[in-house]
Parts: sequence; structure tokens; C-alpha cells
Amino acid sequence: MTLTARQIGKARLDVIVTDITTLRVDAIVNAANSSLLGGGGVDGAIHRAAGPELLAECRTLHGCKTGDAKITKGYRLLPAKHVIHAVGPVWNGGTQNEDTLLASCYRRGIELCHANRLGSVAFPAISTGVYHFPPDRAAGIAVKAVVDALAAAPDLTQVTFCCFSAPSGELHQKVLDTFGSPC
Ligand code: ADP
Repeated sequence: MTLTARQIGKARLDVIVTDITTLRVDAIVNAANSSLLGGGGVDGAIHRAAGPELLAECRTLHGCKTGDAKITKGYRLLPAKHVIHAVGPVWNGGTQNEDTLLASCYRRGIELCHANRLGSVAFPAISTGVYHFPPDRAAGIAVKAVVDALAAAPDLTQVTFCCFSAPSGELHQKVLDTFGSPC
């Protein structure tokens, strides 16, 4: 698989296949659940890497609605200074507004980057694990939602789609290749 970054305005968008907790970015996005009190998958990995202080801050947030996101510090995740906790929809056959809610997670993530003057962010493939969103459909929504939201975050110079398998990376790259120009 060839992974090629794309330039869109001032932002460089790329796809990588790795553990999101290892990335050197200003913020990593968590695929959280609405309690924000931890779970399995990427949520569990982020809480393990960030340490108990992350859960303590999450307890003060009183949950988060599906399609929305909230920001915390990154604690022991250094060098990621922040975690953006986004709550993706559970896939229900596409009958429960899942596409819009998933796009909203990415848009809210980008908006929080702008509000906190962050320059770089990495997203996992939200909802494609235990929430069972079809991975190809989710990749299309994820990339398009980020591209559409970029105009609202002029300080953002790097957005990474951090996939956890080669097939997921390929799906994201295929969509990304249809936007911007290679860099
Ligand atoms: P959800 O409940 O939103 O489906 P999951 O954590 O179950 O969240 O899965 C979301 C995506 O995150 C899946 O594609 C899964 O393979 C991926 N994932 C799991 N662990 C990690 C990790 N450490 N880094 C990056 N992605 C991960």
C-alpha cells in the first residue's frame, strides 16, 4: 500500500497505520462512548497510556452526546497535549442518522482544534470497531467531513487518519486521493 499525503490549503492530510497513542501530534481523538468513562478498543488504549488523571478529568465532563466531542489534557500521553473525546454512533443499519452523526464527530474534532489553537491532530476510524459502522462508508464520511471542516480551522497544518489495519488504511487513502494535491 502506498500512503501519500495530500495538501489541502495550508493543511497536510495523511494516513498511517499504527497505534494512535504513539503519535507526536497536539491532539489525538478518542472514539469514546457517551459516558466518557472509558471502554475497550482505542478508548482503553488511550486511557491506559494517559493514566488515571485522564479518567479523573473525564468524570468532571458529565458525558457527551453522540456526534459531539469534548477536549481534555493528554496527561501521560506526552507529547500529545490533548485528547479530543468524540462519541460516534452505533451502526443500526443506517436508519438512525448514523452518517450525519459520524460526520459531526470529525467536524466537532476540527472545531475543538481551532478553539484550542492546535496545529496537528490524529483521528482513529471512529465507530468502525465495536460500534460496527461499515468501514468503507465510514472512511468516505471521515475524510470528507475533515476536508469540509478545514476552512473553519486555519491554524491546523496536519491532520492524520490513524488506522489500525492495512485494509482500513487503504480505504482512507483511496478517499483522500480524491482531494487536494499530492505533497
Ligand atoms: P468504536 O466504539 O467507535 O467502534 P473502537 O475502539 O471499537 O471504537 O474502534 C474504532 C477504531 O479504532 C477501529 O477501527 C479499531 O480497529 C481502531 N483502534 C483500536 N485500537 C486502536 C489504537 N490503539 N490506535 C488506533 N486505532 C485503534
